[in-house]
Amino acid sequence: MSGSPDVVIIGGGVIGCLTAYYLTLRGARVTVVEMTGVAARASGKATGRLTPYFLGCEPDLLALSPATLALHAQLKHDLPEATGVDYGYDERPYLRIARDEQGAETLRVWQSDRRSEGVEARWIEPAEARSLSPWLTEDFVAALECNFEPTLDSFLFTTSAWAVAKMNGARLVTAQATGLKTDGRSRRARGVRISDGSTIPAETVVVANGAWSGGAGEWLGVDVPVRPQKGQLLILSDEATGKSPVGIIDIEGKYSIKPKRLGGTFFGSTTENAGFDITPTEKARNEMVAAMAGLSDRLSASNVITHTACLRPMTPDGKPIVGAVTGWEGVYLATGHWSKGIHFAPVTGKWLADMIADGESEYDLSALSPARFAGSAGAMLPRP
Ligand SMILES: Cc1cc2nc3c(=O)[nH]c(=O)nc-3n(C[C@H](O)[C@H](O)[C@H](O)COP(=O)(O)OP(=O)(O)OC[C@H]3O[C@@H](n4cnc5c(N)ncnc54)[C@H](O)[C@@H]3O)c2cc1C
Repeated sequence: MSGSPDVVIIGGGVIGCLTAYYLTLRGARVTVVEMTGVAARASGKATGRLTPYFLGCEPDLLALSPATLALHAQLKHDLPEATGVDYGYDERPYLRIARDEQGAETLRVWQSDRRSEGVEARWIEPAEARSLSPWLTEDFVAALECNFEPTLDSFLFTTSAWAVAKMNGARLVTAQATGLKTDGRSRRARGVRISDGSTIPAETVVVANGAWSGGAGEWLGVDVPVRPQKGQLLILSDEATGKSPVGIIDIEGKYSIKPKRLGGTFFGSTTENAGFDITPTEKARNEMVAAMAGLSDRLSASNVITHTACLRPMTPDGKPIVGAVTGWEGVYLATGHWSKGIHFAPVTGKWLADMIADGESEYDLSALSPARFAGSAGAMLPRP
């Protein structure tokens, strides 16, 4: 890598760790500043579905999905080979189910939309769906078998990428980043200030601190339009239920039952506006148990072994913000991945490594550029 720039990444979630991984493969000297622990927040708790079809199908993200899936397909070999850790990558299919004719029509439209993207979902009758999953309730009328959304264990995936970055020389500093060091009055990053008052020098800074990245706007003098969206989910024991050979998704795509290869079944999730609160609540648990009963006869509150809550980093248009910060030299944002950060972390990290090392990339992330908010009221405009 020409010049071997030093890079400081703020945030040890999936975005920061995959960026560290790809940068160290290019020979960069990388430091990650993380205020809690690697994968301690959303990236360690997410369901781990690798899909662009969750809480909306944004066209720019659909276009990037094959690239990030191809990188995941490579990582599933490379990371376990380096670490010896199986992070539970799994290609078992999902059934998307409809409980009435209106729902069946929605499924037909969904199937046709996927076909136009070159993705084939198979229409199956209830009897066959039931033979694929004994967990389904009686009242569904149609199902689509979807065989293009792998899953993994988010915590193990993130920590595996970090472990390899560390083997390649990356360093972790456990501290809160509190600001940027600049060249006097210029907007050229020279490092990151941390909570003990010291500065970590760097030629390049990547702000990848998830739901908290709105606060980085203060240091940069720009508004970073990212806010936290709380998501809660339940993890169910395999003991009473066994394990379904397929996952199940409701027609709106909000709730899914995801049996994991390494154990447990994930059910979730909620979407809540609760600021930075990450307390699991009884109300959400009851809502999820009720929704679960609508999808499966086999699962009930007694199967719940864990209840978690964490924060999705959400943007006004539902797309991540990835790119150089307008008006600054040496500062990138990599945030706002909302409900799809595990899926899009590889293409985000690889793009950043390419851009920082070479100034160009085979991937086109221009649709995610921070510049798209320039001109909109109060968002991403450099302050005087
Ligand atoms: C219930 C739920 C289910 C989900 N399921 C899926 C899924 O199936 N598939 C999928 O692709 N995505 C899923 N997601 C979304 C995914 O979890 C997020 O998009 C992703 O984890 C965001 O990663 P991140 O690295 O940006 O943020 P985080 O994982 O939140 O990491 C940011 C890190 O920055 C640190 N930090 C913050 N401020 C500072 C500071 N000033 N200094 C130092 N460190 C700081 C934090 O401690 C944190 O560790 C789900 C999310 C939720 C809530």
